[in-house]
Amino acid sequence: MSTTAETTGRHDTAGGTPAEHARRLTDLVGDRAGGWDRAGVLPVDLLRGLGADGLLCAEVPVEHGGLGWSSVVNGEFTAHTGSLCGSVRSVQTSQGMAAWTVRRLGDRAQRAAYLPRLTGGELAAVGFSEPHAGSDLAAMSTTIRPDGDTVVVDGRKVWVTAARYADLLVVFGRHTEGGGAVVVVPSDAPGVRVEPVADPLGCRAAGHSAVVLDSVRVPTSAVLGAGAGLGLLVASALAYGRKSVAWGCVGILRACRDATARHAATRSQFGKPLAEHQLVARHLAGLVTGEQVATRLCEHASRCWDDGSPESVIATLLAKNESARRAAEGAAAAVQVLASAGAHDGHVVARAYRDAKLMEIIEGSTEMCELLLADHAVRTLDTTR
Ligand code: FAD
Repeated sequence: MSTTAETTGRHDTAGGTPAEHARRLTDLVGDRAGGWDRAGVLPVDLLRGLGADGLLCAEVPVEHGGLGWSSVVNGEFTAHTGSLCGSVRSVQTSQGMAAWTVRRLGDRAQRAAYLPRLTGGELAAVGFSEPHAGSDLAAMSTTIRPDGDTVVVDGRKVWVTAARYADLLVVFGRHTEGGGAVVVVPSDAPGVRVEPVADPLGCRAAGHSAVVLDSVRVPTSAVLGAGAGLGLLVASALAYGRKSVAWGCVGILRACRDATARHAATRSQFGKPLAEHQLVARHLAGLVTGEQVATRLCEHASRCWDDGSPESVIATLLAKNESARRAAEGAAAAVQVLASAGAHDGHVVARAYRDAKLMEIIEGSTEMCELLLADHAVRTLDTTR
């Protein structure tokens, strides 16, 4: 009789409630996140272990080897990861986005082929961005050209989070017969080159890399969503990424709130704890408010997601934009309160400060999110009032 590990690729530790998984993650990360950040690399066995336990894409249904968690439960877990290590959370976001792309755009056979791999310890990254296609993804020039029962992929992707660790690259491009397509490319396929980004500002161990695809040939069965509008394909994947990043920002805010409260309560200047100086207390109040606002927006977005509500798109956009903004503000306030005590490379607030700034750029920059929110306001204007 086959064991659970044989049938699902799971580690023995896979069982447990979300709270138990969170405690185990706390133990696994311990005080190592600052060191990983400085070294610019995560231990791959840690990532594979989390992946094999289904924790990097925990919303994948049980029938495909996943944990079948709701978006709300996975969101809280993502926030917990984000409070411990922005780089691990980034890898989790990429894996979740890859799995969501397969669920959303793949057919039954593709879901059955790829999802058990993504919940069984293989790692994935998602590539949209190109040197000349950042905010404007319609400018993407990567091509996916059919050739018999294969396709040939040519292009260059940049800043692909987790590509350094990935076994599978989920690559977006133009289908040469019209529209867009997504292709799942093994990272060791001939013609694939992964070039790590040197010294990124934040999430420095997340494995950001450029990915060069030079006449890469994969079977047609690896193509998802062939011929659908490129914008639609990108929007499907980005929706998950935005939600995950938003929850990650909640984690940043929680880490900053706790570090700031601890320091302000224990460090005294002018004969009393910093927390009793009103201008410092204002920073703390801002952090508490930011964490609460971000949490409530993320919970709302995830509930909409779980309910399949059409409001999900705008709720996710709002959660991402506001959580990222609050995290960047909150992390800056945390560094201000800790002052020299937090001004060390690898200190939790210093890391948060650098990581949080990047959250305002990825999965739709602040400006792009604001444009979409403004567009929503105009489109949904009630002209009868
Ligand atoms: P640009 O598009 O050149 O924009 C520059 C500035 O101009 C921004 O502030 C932008 O908001 C603003 N701007 C642009 N157009 C407008 C407009 N119409 N109106 C107002 N303002 C505008 N890509 C992937 O494919 N996969 C990944 O996993 C991934 N991970 C990333 C991780 C990190 C840490 C970073 C930094 C980037 C990552 N990216 C990834 C790339 C990311 O998606 C892009 O950086 C992002 O879309 C912005 O594109 P850009 O950097 O080219 O900036």
